[in-house]
Amino acid sequence: MNAEMVTSSAQLDEQKSPSPSVASETPTKINLMGMSRSELEQFFVELGEKKFRAGQVMKWIHQFFVTDFAEMSNISGKLRAKLEQICEIRVPEVVHRNYSKDGTRKWVFRVGDGAGSLVETVLIPADDKTGARKTLCISSQVGCALDCSFCSTGKQGFQRDLSPDEIIGQLWVANYSYMEEVAVAERERTVTNVVMMGMGEPLLNYDAVLSSMQIMLDDFAYGMSKRRVTLSTSGVVPKIDQLAKDIDVALAISLHAPNDELRNELVPINKKYPLKELIAACQRYITKDGNESARKHVTIEYVMLDGVNDQPEHAQQMLKLLKNLPSKINLIPFNPFPHAPYGRSSRNRIMAFQKTLSDAGFVCTIRQTRGDDIDAACGQLVGQVADRTRRAAQWKKKVEEKNMIVRVTGDPDS
Ligand code: SF4
Repeated sequence: MNAEMVTSSAQLDEQKSPSPSVASETPTKINLMGMSRSELEQFFVELGEKKFRAGQVMKWIHQFFVTDFAEMSNISGKLRAKLEQICEIRVPEVVHRNYSKDGTRKWVFRVGDGAGSLVETVLIPADDKTGARKTLCISSQVGCALDCSFCSTGKQGFQRDLSPDEIIGQLWVANYSYMEEVAVAERERTVTNVVMMGMGEPLLNYDAVLSSMQIMLDDFAYGMSKRRVTLSTSGVVPKIDQLAKDIDVALAISLHAPNDELRNELVPINKKYPLKELIAACQRYITKDGNESARKHVTIEYVMLDGVNDQPEHAQQMLKLLKNLPSKINLIPFNPFPHAPYGRSSRNRIMAFQKTLSDAGFVCTIRQTRGDDIDAACGQLVGQVADRTRRAAQWKKKVEEKNMIVRVTGDPDS
């Protein structure tokens, strides 16, 4: 899932990263960065150490942002020497970063060899006056196999899954970017919210994503509120049920179409898990237990594509589809990427769509865009990628043909 994360390139303080995130020259060492507490406990027990060492080391890594064992002052010199010998704390290599004056920050990470081994992470500050909320959009895969027709990442095809250290490393780097000059004892985590909505379908890299989210929630690591960690999926139904059993985090669905025919085109995984099954899975995900749960409602993401899914009848179909699902709807003005087969719906069209949903009692927001001129927007991560499959061109042709029929007949269903 790719989030909408836009800023103005004119405002960007673009830098080649002097990153602390330097890939290790000894990759055979065990990387502790992506280990959950239970994994770390097992690791220390196997070393002949007490379990509580896991919590200590986690705090050093994820709360004090220390990557050098020598700085871990509450760990004995003997154990530190042992850890240095066999382990490392390695974060993904930052190859590029943009820091905007409006607070948006973007990082490009290299997670392998070759031009296709790049992933992006974007941090967006709150639009409110406080600016206190800082939401990080994290990638879970290099590329994506799901080929949603409006998505630039989908055009790259799938390269590989990210490992837990590459996923949690994105959160580490984002937090660390605010404290590079801050003394260890005074370091505080800045990122308040995470959305698993960057490159890739997180539920198709389930174990690594689950492990990473466990670290996000762990009080010995980031200690984030479960309501502030959101997993966004295009609708891998069996994994939604699995997620409900394994962890309590907020769920977002990349819906983008209110009927199967259109969703089959925009989000092809719908052919495997059609809307009826997806909505039922969302209903199962909602829990009635406890007010503290993150699973009180589902967020519905809906990208607004000019003349494609933004008509009054689509809004009416949304009402019908979601009538029994506690949900909040987020309308996303489409950000065109090079060769994109779609355009963005007009402001009036988006507002009319919102009004229909709001009048029916739904909480329906329009995501703010702050510029279309850099490749940090929904479906644009990692810039202008080669369209290896020519899918974009095929889609453009198809949409143009449909628009021509609409212009001639005035009937979008023709
Ligand atoms: S192709 Fe679809 S599932 Fe994959 S990243 Fe793009 S929007 Fe998300």
